[in-house]
Amino acid sequence: MKASTQRRQFLKVGSAALAMIPVVAFTNHAFAATNAAMRTALKYQPKPLAEKNCGNCLQFVPGASAKVPGGCKIMPGDTEISATGYCTAWAKKA
Ligand code: SF4
Repeated sequence: MKASTQRRQFLKVGSAALAMIPVVAFTNHAFAATNAAMRTALKYQPKPLAEKNCGNCLQFVPGASAKVPGGCKIMPGDTEISATGYCTAWAKKA
C-alpha cells in the first residue's frame, strides 16, 4: 500500500472517530424532548401558579426520580415536564 493511500485511510478513520465524540458525550440528553406546540397552546410555564403545579396535576407522569423531569398525558413526546411547572390544562389529582 502506498504511503499516500495509508495516510488517506488514517485520516478517514480518524475523522469518523472524531465525529463520534459529540454523540457519545450527549447520549444522556439524546432522548430529552419537548412538545413546543402543546406547551405554547397550553401556556406551559416552568413555575407553579399558586398551589397548582404539575406534581399535583392529574395529567402528570413522574420521572424516574424526584430530580428527573417527567411527562404529561396531554403533551405527547414531551419528557421535560417539571413537577413544579404549570399549564392552563391543570386538573387536580384525586
Ligand atoms: S396538564 Fe399542564 S399542569 Fe398538568 S401535568 Fe400537564 S403540563 Fe403540567
